[in-house]
Amino acid sequence: MSVEAEGRGRDADFLVVGSGFGGSVAALRLAQKGYDVVVLEQGRRWRADDFPRTNMELRRYLWAPRLGCRGIQSVTPLRHALVLHGTGVGGGSLVYANVLIQPDAQVFRRPEWGAGDWEERLRHHYREARRMLGAVPCPALGRTDELLRDIVHGMRGTDEHRVHDVGVFFGAAGVERADPYFGGEGPARTGCTRCGACMIGCPVGAKNTLDRNYLWLAERLGVRVVPETEALTIRPEADGWAVETRRSWGLRRPRRTWRARRVVVSAGVLGTVELLLRSRRAGALTGLSPRLGDFVRTNSESILAADATEADPSWTEGVAITSGVHADERTHLEMVRFNAGSDALLWLTLPLVEEGGTLARATSVLGALLRRPMRLLRSLWPSGRAARTGIILAMQSTDGHLTLELRPRWWRLGGTSLGSRLPEGQAPPVAHIPVARAVARRLAERMGGEAWGSLHEAVLGAPATAHILGGCRMAATPDAGVVDFEGRVHGHPGLYVADGSVVPVNLGVNPSLTITALAEHILAHVPERPASR
Ligand SMILES: Cc1cc2nc3c(=O)[nH]c(=O)nc-3n(C[C@H](O)[C@H](O)[C@H](O)COP(=O)(O)OP(=O)(O)OC[C@H]3O[C@@H](n4cnc5c(N)ncnc54)[C@H](O)[C@@H]3O)c2cc1C
Ligand code: SF4
Repeated sequence: MSVEAEGRGRDADFLVVGSGFGGSVAALRLAQKGYDVVVLEQGRRWRADDFPRTNMELRRYLWAPRLGCRGIQSVTPLRHALVLHGTGVGGGSLVYANVLIQPDAQVFRRPEWGAGDWEERLRHHYREARRMLGAVPCPALGRTDELLRDIVHGMRGTDEHRVHDVGVFFGAAGVERADPYFGGEGPARTGCTRCGACMIGCPVGAKNTLDRNYLWLAERLGVRVVPETEALTIRPEADGWAVETRRSWGLRRPRRTWRARRVVVSAGVLGTVELLLRSRRAGALTGLSPRLGDFVRTNSESILAADATEADPSWTEGVAITSGVHADERTHLEMVRFNAGSDALLWLTLPLVEEGGTLARATSVLGALLRRPMRLLRSLWPSGRAARTGIILAMQSTDGHLTLELRPRWWRLGGTSLGSRLPEGQAPPVAHIPVARAVARRLAERMGGEAWGSLHEAVLGAPATAHILGGCRMAATPDAGVVDFEGRVHGHPGLYVADGSVVPVNLGVNPSLTITALAEHILAHVPERPASR
């Protein structure tokens, strides 16, 4: 801690809440500008050996501290979307599928970005984000990727298939070598073994998670990362900010107040929106924009699956996502895989249902069960499904948004949690993407099994998404958005937001590279620390 920060009773110059893509960029760039930084993260710190072997080890896979689960995968059910997001030191990078790609140029031309050419504005930040995250073309495709390429080629007659850049170290498989990325300043790394476990935590150390790049370098510059510490509220104080925290799990959950001159909120869409809403409700941030929680987007996403009758190592071999294909002008599809034995999330699937109201969807599931009862019951058997399943991730850049708000919850004994509602006149987020369903059915035919959709979709007609965006929209005035175009919270000098909540549109592709580039843009506008204040 600097003498200056300590002298004023502060813990740091900057507090950063959350250590995902936004928070890690903030930590490193602020430290490089000479600031003392403390990062508060609600999840645990992980080493490669700590991750579960399959996601059936729920206590080490899921993040649900009230139920004794302290893993990396959060699952938040909302009325209008089932949201999957990451938790831990490194945020979503611990659980993500490594894909680092940029959206199509037309995405940046949408009016929600505000004035200026954002593709140009972010160009060098994308370049730097790619370098820092070690993005390289995936050297090998999975078996289901080949099938997807064939199917879409058959449907469109053109080859729309692209190998993706991924943030993985592809040195000699399983062999450790000295830092290959940062001229010896980074950690030693081990080559990818193509085990397919990327989304339950890489057991090898081949994934370029944030604790191996941005956060690693930040900690070498003196940044303190404080895990298992949940931020509860933020309030202004004379010449700075106070963040109230508590231990994020356990029977005794000691509280503490952290003080700093400035705060960057990077708790991911759900974490950031909830923290700011809670602070406003507590009377601490009453001047926040009325648009807080508005314009939350699901990346117009739908998650489907197809399975084979028999397990085979070739279905699960490879990194979690290797490539993608445009099934039509606006629909991007990717094949996703878990390692064999990681069946847990497949419990959240049901036979693909027809579009329609609750009755139509229920009849459709029932019909599928009655037509082929033994086959479907066998498929529903929880054990061994990942070893014969290919998951299809469909994304669109089409418009559509919902609003997040705090709701009182009796089971939280007077507390609140996030709920969703649709703004007036707004259609629900896309759950039903016809071309993705057609592909799922064809894939199931080729694999010899069934086509599946998400349980949330079958029951509520709402999508599942791993790419929630928005909630703290960038805008020129507080009437229109929460932050300005440099991430500064309107009307609250010294308070910033840098994470997926500032992304203003559905990107139609995996968003982490864009979140990193936007965070680089925001942090580039923070001045160097003055020599003395
Ligand atoms: C299974 C899965 C696979 C994915 N695969 C890809 C992919 O291949 N490519 C891609 O681009 N994207 C992928 N994503 C999405 C990606 O992980 C997110 O878009 C990204 O992590 C969001 O970055 P962020 O900085 O907004 O927040 P996050 O990375 O979510 O980080 C937020 C952090 O803040 C912490 N936090 C929240 N609230 C608090 C609080 N109150 N106090 C303290 N800490 C708090 C959280 O624990 C978390 O660690 C995937 C997501 C999932 C779930
Ligand atoms: S395939 Fe296995 S070794 Fe390679 S990055 Fe994913 S989890 Fe790590």
